[in-house]
Amino acid sequence: MLATGGTIAGRAKDVTALNNYSAGVIHAEQLLQSVPQLQQLAEIQVEQIANVDSADLTFAHWQTLVTHVRSAFAADADLAGVVISHGTNTLEETAWLLQLLIDDPRPVVLGGAMRPATALSADGPLNLFQAVQVASAPQSRGQGVLVVMDGWIHAARKVTKVATQGVGAFASPGTGPLGWVDDAGVHLPLVCEAREAPFAGLTLPGQWPKVAILYGCVEPESSMLTAMLKARIQGLVFTGTGAGQLSAVERDVLRTWSGPRPLMLRASRCGSGPVHRSPEDERCGTLPAGSLNPQKARVLLLLSLSAGFNGVQMAAVLAQLESMS
Ligand code: ASP
Repeated sequence: MLATGGTIAGRAKDVTALNNYSAGVIHAEQLLQSVPQLQQLAEIQVEQIANVDSADLTFAHWQTLVTHVRSAFAADADLAGVVISHGTNTLEETAWLLQLLIDDPRPVVLGGAMRPATALSADGPLNLFQAVQVASAPQSRGQGVLVVMDGWIHAARKVTKVATQGVGAFASPGTGPLGWVDDAGVHLPLVCEAREAPFAGLTLPGQWPKVAILYGCVEPESSMLTAMLKARIQGLVFTGTGAGQLSAVERDVLRTWSGPRPLMLRASRCGSGPVHRSPEDERCGTLPAGSLNPQKARVLLLLSLSAGFNGVQMAAVLAQLESMS
């Protein structure tokens, strides 16, 4: 188990406090001790990678996490799987990062909690127990990186946080979860199609590329786009309206920009559904992000830039990922 913090490790002054608490304060050992039933389930070695709110995770934390997962699998043939406790706010980004980088049939399972550990009906203990159940189940092998929340098992590629409150805050739009876990065991009736790791061989850089996300809306502030281009940002994700639509003003900025171009992806602010290629992509130098949401498109861009990809290589990896979704 690799612990990174989040609400699952959060503490409030009062058992009724659900919003006013400090995330990432309880140590991983203590989390494990709070669920003694885990002892019957697995032999668990625990490591604290970070203890932060997931909004405060950094690329350095990601680097450490990836190194730990890779070396844990390489070092121990008897290891059944890895569980990562994580804040729910950016959990899907870390899950997707690991999906792209970790090439091992053994499961990596991320889980968190929507209520702090001190709350009445805290969801963390059961989520942790179920994450370990899934990580140690033979049927989880070969399913890629999984997310377990509220009894549901989601694929890293599909899962996203869809609510600010409530224990059922995660969904896999369009497809639904891969399965579920309960006291009768792990049920995975669906095979995860999106489980390849195209960046398995990538050594992560000391200095990560700069990749920003711009959000589409009525009369967007085009000076933001110009500022990004002038700042020589290396990657840009547009959270376009509808099926990844950019405004005419933004398209004009891109068409007339004569400086170096970042790698640019168009995703959608809708929350589900694909973004397909459009004739404007050619003119603006953008690529459609397919079914990746903006935050996952950014993770893909970070790795593609780290691998030194150009637009053609980026398009090829996007096509490869879409063919598996
Ligand atoms: N603030 C938390 C985080 O670290 C939210 C959570 O874990 O549910 O993302």
